[in-house]
Amino acid sequence: MGIFQEINNLFAKKQKIEKEIAILQKSCNHRKKSVKLVRKHLDSASPIIRYVCDECLSVLGYPNQKDTDNFFKE
Ligand SMILES: [Zn+2]
Repeated sequence: MGIFQEINNLFAKKQKIEKEIAILQKSCNHRKKSVKLVRKHLDSASPIIRYVCDECLSVLGYPNQKDTDNFFKE
């Protein structure tokens, strides 16, 4: 298989997987969240601090000062 076909195959798979993730995250109630370091992009060097759903791993927003302090204390 040539590179072009292989890349196309992988992009198709990636799209399918991203769609499945989006559907799962949409169906989640985000009942439990924790403060986590996440990467904005796969290639971004510095992680950022956010609330992340414990179940579906959706990024839910900026943590408040108290939770941020607790996170860095641990
Ligand atoms: Zn969730």
